[in-house]
Amino acid sequence: MYDIIFCGGGLSAALTAWRLHSDSPELKLLILEQGRHLGGHHTWSFFKSDLTESQYQWITPLIQHTWPQYEVRFPELRRSFFSTYCSTDSEALDRHIQKTLPKEAIRTQATIARLTPDEVVLDDGETLKAKCLIDCRGPEPNAAVVVGFQKFTGRVIELKNEHGLAGPVIMDASVPQDDYRFVYTLPFSPTQVLVEDTRYANSERLNIEADRTAIADYVKNQGWKASEVVREEDGVLPIMLGGDIDAFWKTSPGIPRLGLRAALFHAVTGYSFPDAVRTADLLARNPAVLASSQQAYEFIRDYSRQNFRQQRFLHLLNRMLFMAAKPEERYVILERFHRLPTPLVERFYANRLQWADKIRILVGRPPVPIIEALRCLPEASLRRFSSSNSNQQD
Ligand SMILES: Cc1cc2nc3c(=O)[nH]c(=O)nc-3n(C[C@H](O)[C@H](O)[C@H](O)COP(=O)(O)OP(=O)(O)OC[C@H]3O[C@@H](n4cnc5c(N)ncnc54)[C@H](O)[C@@H]3O)c2cc1C
Repeated sequence: MYDIIFCGGGLSAALTAWRLHSDSPELKLLILEQGRHLGGHHTWSFFKSDLTESQYQWITPLIQHTWPQYEVRFPELRRSFFSTYCSTDSEALDRHIQKTLPKEAIRTQATIARLTPDEVVLDDGETLKAKCLIDCRGPEPNAAVVVGFQKFTGRVIELKNEHGLAGPVIMDASVPQDDYRFVYTLPFSPTQVLVEDTRYANSERLNIEADRTAIADYVKNQGWKASEVVREEDGVLPIMLGGDIDAFWKTSPGIPRLGLRAALFHAVTGYSFPDAVRTADLLARNPAVLASSQQAYEFIRDYSRQNFRQQRFLHLLNRMLFMAAKPEERYVILERFHRLPTPLVERFYANRLQWADKIRILVGRPPVPIIEALRCLPEASLRRFSSSNSNQQD
């Protein structure tokens, strides 16, 4: 009998297990992961300002790169922001968690077939029991909410020449547009870059071959000479347009969830690293709620509902992006947003917008046709998006 079993050994499970083990080493924890390593194959980035000082201090052993500034590029805007940007990756997470947690707390190559509030059954029939089981298996479609997608392919490339970047370019939307398309670049060393071709799209279909070609073209256009592709990753992240968070949680009553499976991510970016840190911190400060699956379910559900409702303004911005703007003109919304003052931009990414910020974002000449903007204000407009989207995918 375990105290807690984390079902799925990705970001949210690994951070929460690490944090709980540090604060309450007497807890008998187990992480079950289907892969050979914890955390998959991702590069995770975030802004230092997304976290509190103590959260940042706690997560520091994981951080592999920090930059004092980053840049955005659009057809009519090129701007540097002097805010600290940080990055780590799955390999660093796996190394750190393997070193920190007792050996018997991690089981890789363990595929979960079935999960109830009391037990988890692996694909070979083995059954494991815990007082609290948490579903951390990453995102899954849920009919209660409506999402668009951020999808990307990224390649870490060793160059023959120096790239000359002062810091990350988190959005270079000066590239040809079809969906909202941008290239994301992280300079890991003077001659090594991660280059990601990214799209905000209605469909989740990823065209990795086309992305690879686009990355090669981008590298060439920057005057960089590729020597070797060191690593590749891809992802399709949900971008939340709205929906019924209560119904979302009713789909698996009594089974607590974490991470993307609990809708704990930034609605506009689909990023969840800061949320995973915050949730781990929150649970470590309230270990009593992990005494049973039911208590954990209610606690995390309430937190997720509150988080979802607090992001309603971001859902509205997403509806403008996906429903009011033509795909090739979506970039205008982001270009206009990145003209705003740095502290507001920081609060946006940290999901801490204030009322005045929301008004500031909306005032002025709208970047999308006003009639279309008004049509997507009510959540009922989502039905239009869902049906046009499923028609497109058919
Ligand atoms: C390539 C990529 C890059 C990203 N970059 C960023 C970024 O820069 N910043 C940011 O904040 N967010 C980023 N994200 C978004 C988000 O942070 C990640 O998706 C994050 O890993 C989500 O954490 P999670 O714990 O919800 O799920 P995951 O980390 O995906 O973990 C789920 C785990 O469950 C395992 N699993 C699934 N099914 C089973 C099963 N049946 N049995 C056993 N195990 C199972 C999976 O193998 C996986 O390891 C990125 C996502 C991707 C895909």
